[in-house]
Amino acid sequence: MTSAPACPRCLGQLRPPDVRSDQWRCDVHAAVAPWREATTAPEEALRQLAGSAAVPVWVPTPMPVHWYVGGVGWAGDDRTGARATALATAGPSPVGGPADMLLVAESPGTGLGARFAGIAGPDPNQLDTLPEAKVEAAGHPTALWPVRSPPDRAAFVGEAGGVWLWVLLWPADAALLLLEHLVLADLGDQQTLTDRLTFGAPTDRLGTRMASSAA
Ligand SMILES: [Zn+2]
Repeated sequence: MTSAPACPRCLGQLRPPDVRSDQWRCDVHAAVAPWREATTAPEEALRQLAGSAAVPVWVPTPMPVHWYVGGVGWAGDDRTGARATALATAGPSPVGGPADMLLVAESPGTGLGARFAGIAGPDPNQLDTLPEAKVEAAGHPTALWPVRSPPDRAAFVGEAGGVWLWVLLWPADAALLLLEHLVLADLGDQQTLTDRLTFGAPTDRLGTRMASSAA
C-alpha cells in the first residue's frame, strides 16, 4: 500500500493525467513527479524500487549501530520509473537522544530534497565554496555541501550517480554521524542488501506531519 500521490515539493493534492495532459499537476508547482510513500510493507516497496528506479536507492552499509529503516518513498510514475527516492532511517544520535536521517537521490528539478531541507527549491541554491562533509556513495568519495535550512535540522547536498544526493538529519547536531565515515550503497546495484536491512517503527519525516513551510 502507498499513500495517495502528492506533490513532492509541497505535499499538495495532485490532478492526475487527463486528455489534455499526461502529467500529474500541482496547483502551485504545475507538472511534478507524483510522490508516494509506502504505508505498509516497506521491505517489499524497497525491493520493487531497487529494481525499477531511474536513480539510486541509497542505504547506509553498514547501518550506524542500532539504526533502522523507518520508511521509503519515491517520486515518479510507472512510465518513467522513480526520478527521486527517499529512505528514512532512525536511531540514536551520536550526541544522545533519538535522531532521524533521510537519504534522497533525485533528478534535478524534482524538489523533494528541497522540501525536506526546508528551502524553496526545487534545487539547492548556490553552494558554499567548500564542502563540509564527505560520504562514500557506490564506492566513490562524495563531497557534501551544507544547505542553509531551518535550525531543527542539518541538510547537505552533493552529486552521486549523476543526480543530487541529499543527506538530511534531525536534530541538527546529529550531523556528527557524517564524521563517522558513512558508506552508502545503491540498492539498485546490490538488491540482496534489502534482506540485510533492519526495519523498525515508521518515522514521520517523509510525510505530511513534518511538512516544511517550503512552497
Ligand atoms: Zn506542489
